[in-house]
Amino acid sequence: MATARNDDADSTAVRRLRVFFLPFFARSHLIPQTDLACRMAAARPAEVEATMVVTPANAVLIEPTVARAAAAGHAVHVLRYPFPDVGLGEGVECLRTAPAHEQWRVYRAVDEARPSHESLLREHRPDAIVADVPFWWTTQVAAELGVPRLTFHPVGAFPQLAMNNLFAIRSDIISAAAAGKAAAAVSVPGLPAGKEITIPVSELPTFLVRDDHVSKSWDHMKASQLAGFGVVLNTFLDLERPYCEEFGRVDARRAYFVGPLGQPSSSTVNRGGDTNVDCLSWLSTKPSRSVVYVCFGSFAYFSATQARELALGLEASNQPFLWVVRSDDGSGNQWAPEGWEQRVADRGLVVRGWAPQLAVLAHPSVGAYVTHCGWNSVQEAAAAGVPVLTWPLSFDQFFNERLITEVAEFGARVWDGGKRSEREEEAETVPADAIARAVAGFMESGERRDKLQARAGELVERARAAVSEDGSSWRDVHRLIDDLVQATLPQDNPVQV
Ligand code: UDP
Repeated sequence: MATARNDDADSTAVRRLRVFFLPFFARSHLIPQTDLACRMAAARPAEVEATMVVTPANAVLIEPTVARAAAAGHAVHVLRYPFPDVGLGEGVECLRTAPAHEQWRVYRAVDEARPSHESLLREHRPDAIVADVPFWWTTQVAAELGVPRLTFHPVGAFPQLAMNNLFAIRSDIISAAAAGKAAAAVSVPGLPAGKEITIPVSELPTFLVRDDHVSKSWDHMKASQLAGFGVVLNTFLDLERPYCEEFGRVDARRAYFVGPLGQPSSSTVNRGGDTNVDCLSWLSTKPSRSVVYVCFGSFAYFSATQARELALGLEASNQPFLWVVRSDDGSGNQWAPEGWEQRVADRGLVVRGWAPQLAVLAHPSVGAYVTHCGWNSVQEAAAAGVPVLTWPLSFDQFFNERLITEVAEFGARVWDGGKRSEREEEAETVPADAIARAVAGFMESGERRDKLQARAGELVERARAAVSEDGSSWRDVHRLIDDLVQATLPQDNPVQV
């Protein structure tokens, strides 16, 4: 086993490999990167020292996880830098806390964080850098320091390949849309295993249909990812093997598949927010696999109209449900139909704020998960063996839905009846009766539910095996550490960083 050593007088003194992690300003990036830092430090406590490089309000979100790792004797630290002044209020430093119409400022903060990143990295000179996709300049600083830079991707291999391959035909998509063919579907070229996916243009992420912050920085992000040491993905081989293999071939010099990063064992601590754990005792009053868990991730906004339809749909489904509703989006209770909470009180619980999602999914009373298909949630559902009802809202989520329903086959769509889109002007409201039909239809159906449940049951075994000793993700975490140690050791034939 290779070990990093001090290059001071006592050349036998072992010192830890100092790895810096730089996550983007969103809980769904902060959470898995912190989990990765903790997992690397736990995998080789004597060899790895992980430092999360974050802004002050984001540091607060990850501190409980970091403190747990430290209490277990693992070297995980937090290094703070100021959040750029981009006109957001005091303490507003991530997508969730920025109002919907101000989220663009968070993307502006990405560019403005560059000088802080550069000076911190030059000052602290870590042995290796793991930085989120948009922080493409870290590859350049790493090269200057002569250390490896890895890209952390919070999104899986299947959606990434789909988006890459569509980006290559983006100008055709844009011309078709300009010619008024926006309703048309495009077929995703070049997926491995002859997989054919078609997707309506309305469901494509905005960067594929018009210019936005992603399309503008795409070339930089891609070039920096390919020039860097490698890419780390929160996924596991048995979920999407042909796509991981293809991703490793075309999109990274070295690829490491280390998921699922969220494990139920870390679920009841505050993980990414002030967690409301009361819902766990409520769940314990419900029969096995009877409750529908409804949650749309860390930063999606629902209009009051859509939230009202969802409330009515859950009521009409007649199923027990646990629904996580944001308490910080300014909507108050406007969405709740008159008398609704009283009518559903015996079988529905609304969590306002932040739920302990990993613990909820691991709870035996949960029988289905209505999800927006955010990548972390896909991993977490698979790791818990809970079948899902898909309701994608933005970016990679429409591709993730297809992975769930057409590739891994552990879920079904909530709604097929109208136009879905991340662009508000294109999206139709999902009506209450469709929601009720999907939820009740799934919970009450025999064969279809059994089939999806059985498939989810297989996935949970595979996810567990992947992270257990000698599983594929366990091995990739160790391979990653070995490769970094190898690359940073003084040697005759240095590994190319
Ligand atoms: N999450 C949570 N409690 C909540 C809402 C979300 O713990 O009430 C966590 C969830 O477990 C996942 C992350 O927030 O780890 C959401 O990430 P995802 O990629 O699914 O969606 P995004 O936030 O990017 O839309």
